[in-house]
Amino acid sequence: MDVTLSAVVNSSCVSQVCDLSFSLKKMLSRHKLTHNPNRPMAECLLCHKKFTRNDYLKVHMENVHGETEGC
Ligand SMILES: [Zn+2]
Ligand SMILES: [Zn+2]
Repeated sequence: MDVTLSAVVNSSCVSQVCDLSFSLKKMLSRHKLTHNPNRPMAECLLCHKKFTRNDYLKVHMENVHGETEGC
């Protein structure tokens, strides 16, 4: 029988939220911050929609409000 590497992955290093697996526990704890609702989020000043990442806000601004950074 061959044992695949994925079978060896420790289930305690798998994100319960998005099923991503990590080789190190500390990597998982860092990743978990992305699912923490209390972490600071980027907020759209125009419609107050909140985003977990600044890049998402930027894309939202361009797509929804047609604004680009700078000028
Ligand atoms: Zn996750
Ligand atoms: Zn907006």
